[in-house]
Amino acid sequence: MSRVYNFCSGPAALPEAVLKKAQAEMLDWHGAGVSVMEMSHRSTEFMSILASAKARLMRLLDISDDYEVLFVQGGASTLFAQIPANLTNGFDSACYLDTGAWSTKAIKEAKKYTKVNVVASSKEQNYTTVPAFADLELDESAAYLHVCPNETIGGLEFADLPETNLPIIADLSSTILSRKIDVSKYGMIYAGAQKNVGPAGVVICIIRKDLLARCSDSLPTVWNFANLAANDSMINTPPTFAIYLADLVFEWLEEQGGVEAIEAVNIAKAKVLYDFIDASDFYANPIDPAYRSRMNVPFTLADASLESLFLEESEAAGLRTLAGHRSVGGMRASIYNAMPMAGIEALIQFMREFENRHA
Ligand code: PMP
Repeated sequence: MSRVYNFCSGPAALPEAVLKKAQAEMLDWHGAGVSVMEMSHRSTEFMSILASAKARLMRLLDISDDYEVLFVQGGASTLFAQIPANLTNGFDSACYLDTGAWSTKAIKEAKKYTKVNVVASSKEQNYTTVPAFADLELDESAAYLHVCPNETIGGLEFADLPETNLPIIADLSSTILSRKIDVSKYGMIYAGAQKNVGPAGVVICIIRKDLLARCSDSLPTVWNFANLAANDSMINTPPTFAIYLADLVFEWLEEQGGVEAIEAVNIAKAKVLYDFIDASDFYANPIDPAYRSRMNVPFTLADASLESLFLEESEAAGLRTLAGHRSVGGMRASIYNAMPMAGIEALIQFMREFENRHA
């Protein structure tokens, strides 16, 4: 068996210890005589897994009882529609901040349900920076303000939130659990699992309970956040194996010392990689240094004609999936919680050698 360093943006690398534990429990979960995939979602065994995943997430992010934790299906892309469908009821519009490709997709879906007020956009800067929050044209009578604090494709991240009385709804798909956040500042957080949480198939939603009153009975039953909360995410069969894996990842994260400890590692990992890129004339990162993502590090080569060779040779060196998103090209190293510092060091060593051979 030979595992490589996997820089995929998602589905992304999982902690090896988690995969091994899942492997050991695959045929017979805790004496049940079946795998988690084969047990009823209403069984006491699976109910205990669901409760454990929820409790661990609440501890890891210090989530208060004012919030519901939901496990939802359909990917974060479904939430782009499900959020305005649930939460604009009784309102004329919703505010969206546009900082890149994923904000843009969320805006496109929201327009199918409500009037969208794009409060600011960094599109003219090619999404290399974040608009100044002081300049946002916020309509305080809107349903909410939607933000995407880590743009996975662009490699742009911001930690602060705009000052507003509107509930802030954040797509944290590619940054959840990588840094400390104050959940009480958000109306709702959602995140597709397949980057920092587990396999694809489940979306983590953390929603302030008072917002559930907005969800209308006319919504499809399985789309209604209030129904999902009332039924503990089990209106129908939930993605049981994905929730089980998420629980194992949460357990692993607790063993690492929790979010604060992994954040320190993430800061160190991102710093060495950006420092290396900045010190080189051969590689470059286009993002405003104040807003560089700790999770997704895009970079270009001074000579773009070397890109395919870079990808071929890096793959052969055991550094997998370094190609940038198909919409932007270039390279991108996604370095979520499960990527160890040794993976960053191996990447830098390869980049240095490649530069020496081709500069
Ligand atoms: N939001 C962000 C920030 C993402 O990175 C992604 C996936 N890369 C999505 C939404 C869409 O997720 P999904 O493919 O699960 O619909």
